[in-house]
Amino acid sequence: MKIDFNKDNGLVPVIIQDSRTQQVLMLGYMNEEAFEKTEKEGIVTFFSRSKNRLWTKGEESGNFLTVQKISIDCDQDTILIQAVPTNTVCHTGSFSCFGEKESKGFLYELESKIAERIDNKTEGSYTYSLYQRGINKMAQKVGEEAVELVIEAKDSNDDLFKNEAADLLYHFLILLKAKDFSLEDIEKMLQNRSK
Ligand code: AMP
Ligand code: ZN
Ligand code: ZN
Ligand code: ZN
Repeated sequence: MKIDFNKDNGLVPVIIQDSRTQQVLMLGYMNEEAFEKTEKEGIVTFFSRSKNRLWTKGEESGNFLTVQKISIDCDQDTILIQAVPTNTVCHTGSFSCFGEKESKGFLYELESKIAERIDNKTEGSYTYSLYQRGINKMAQKVGEEAVELVIEAKDSNDDLFKNEAADLLYHFLILLKAKDFSLEDIEKMLQNRSK
């Protein structure tokens, strides 16, 4: 990857984004050495302007950033890193340096959690135990939750309605995973329809 480290004292700004939800987590700087270390280890290391040294994010807190994807902008002077945070990202304790965890995009985090439970054959996990019961059972659960949602739609209790809507989405994601499709595949379908 060709990056222009010459514009700003050898430093390039790096945007860190949650690879699952797309939430922006923080901004840091890298020199060439930090970038190479990051690429090599798959864990984000910045050059800290205040510490004036390489700084592996999480070196004290244990809250590392695991690299999923690295992109460079149009004129090679800004880096975008999609990463999975171990825990909270900001030293103030908030989830991101720009505020708390957003709910928008959480479906993708849930999708990867579901895949993890199934792929790791996690004992004691409801997700995995439902998966083990086969496609018909998973599909049936989606049907049941849909019916429950229909019933609550006729009622006036907002919480019950929202709960059933959540149940439906959760079971829908399990069925998608079992069918080897991703949420993005379905989004593409919808997107193509609205062209
Ligand atoms: P950490 O790298 O998470 O072990 O944190 C070590 C130190 O780096 C903290 O005490 C802060 O001074 C600083 N720090 C940690 N996270 C951030 C952040 N997201 N933005 C700026 N400074 C940070
Ligand atoms: Zn640029
Ligand atoms: Zn912060
Ligand atoms: Zn339900």
